[in-house]
Amino acid sequence: MRKKIVAGNWKMNKNLDEAKELIKGLKKEVKKLKLKDDTRVIIAPSFINLRAAVNRTKKSKIEVAAQNVHQEKRGAFTGEVSVDMLESVGVKTAILGHSERRTYFGETDELLAEKVNTVLGKGLEAIFCFGELLEDRKSNSHFKVVEDQIKKALFHLDKTSFTNVVLAYEPVWAIGTGETASPEQAQEMHAFIRNLFVKEYGEDVANSISILYGGSVKPNNAKEIFSKPDVDGGLIGGASLKVDDFTQIIKAI
Ligand code: PGA
Repeated sequence: MRKKIVAGNWKMNKNLDEAKELIKGLKKEVKKLKLKDDTRVIIAPSFINLRAAVNRTKKSKIEVAAQNVHQEKRGAFTGEVSVDMLESVGVKTAILGHSERRTYFGETDELLAEKVNTVLGKGLEAIFCFGELLEDRKSNSHFKVVEDQIKKALFHLDKTSFTNVVLAYEPVWAIGTGETASPEQAQEMHAFIRNLFVKEYGEDVANSISILYGGSVKPNNAKEIFSKPDVDGGLIGGASLKVDDFTQIIKAI
């Protein structure tokens, strides 16, 4: 069956010392939880702290992901990081298509399809993010928007590729705003997404792919959101930056 996942997206927070401190605290708490094999805990520090994070989580349940990666394998792309570089420091997962990347760095579905190919081509895993804007929801086009994002970036893949893909539905209006989708809204969208996969790839793929919810998940709402049948965990921003908050959210899974 599909895995339950709690992933922390640290965004542009935590310098090296702060990252080490947070990891130290999390390791201690996660160890106490004695999580089963069906549950994954992932943290995504900034590029510069990935190596330290990998080294410090080696003997723990905590996995380390990058927040982004470049689509080209190497070359004259000043300031960018490649999949080979990630792999060489022991990172096996990359978050792709976060709404902040789409909004502030102009990432399109077409570009994300390339990034997905590069990540999967290297044998790494992609946590693919997508979600509608507030205006999309107000105009009742949220299902169509999400369907397009998924189709354009992922539906060129073959069935077997999806063993290395995690989906993260993040309604943009709920990210960092304190506004969460209600558990019912999350479930409704997650069921819609799973059904897209049933139609395109069949029940096996659809039932084995983890779909995370992201957007203002906090210790006080995580349990209810995670209790929904098609919500397999969360991608957590703000609340992943404190040991206590993130631990509470892991407990809720
Ligand atoms: P948030 O961010 O939990 O701070 O809303 C979620 C995300 O951007 O992944």
